[in-house]
Amino acid sequence: MKILCIGRNYAEHIAELQNETPDAPVIFSKPDTALLQRNQPFFLPDFSQDIHHEIELVLRICKNGKNIEEKFAPTYFDAIGLGIDFTARDLQSKLKSKGLPWELAKGFDGSAPISQEFKPVADFADLKNIDFHLEVNGEVRQQGNSSMMLHDFNKIISYISQFITLKMGDLIFTGTPSGVGPVQVGDQLTGYLAGEKLLDLAIK
Ligand code: MG
Repeated sequence: MKILCIGRNYAEHIAELQNETPDAPVIFSKPDTALLQRNQPFFLPDFSQDIHHEIELVLRICKNGKNIEEKFAPTYFDAIGLGIDFTARDLQSKLKSKGLPWELAKGFDGSAPISQEFKPVADFADLKNIDFHLEVNGEVRQQGNSSMMLHDFNKIISYISQFITLKMGDLIFTGTPSGVGPVQVGDQLTGYLAGEKLLDLAIK
């Protein structure tokens, strides 16, 4: 399986990092070793002093496809979960300033916690109106709704599949709303999808 991620998909998050709004989705990937499952704790790595949380809706791909038309995209994912796209912001800023790839700032071990439970797509009344949020130590830090995405699920799947064949089991992180910020040892991160707690992990 592979993990693909969308960057700059929420206007307020683009603004808070003072990035430009892209014409097409910004795509990057994380290796499978980035996965963190079953609410295992996240250990702060020693190569960064500024690891940020980015709560995101995550799509689970359910069949293989290439050059998928947007109108057929809904048949290519069957479940939605929550993930955190941990980002070494200091390292990313350094790489961005030099025009270098973000891989090490985004793809390090444990940088992709996902919820154990993924909700079947059929459970959602409207895929364009899915609430989610992240609390740090019980305080809401990030709040999003799928309606705020610049590129929706279908567009993302269609776009990526022009370049990269999607395979059953792949995961797509669909971008983070505003409110990203640093985590520190002792923090407890809880993620909620449509009001239900699906993620609960400690920073160590
Ligand atoms: Mg992200």
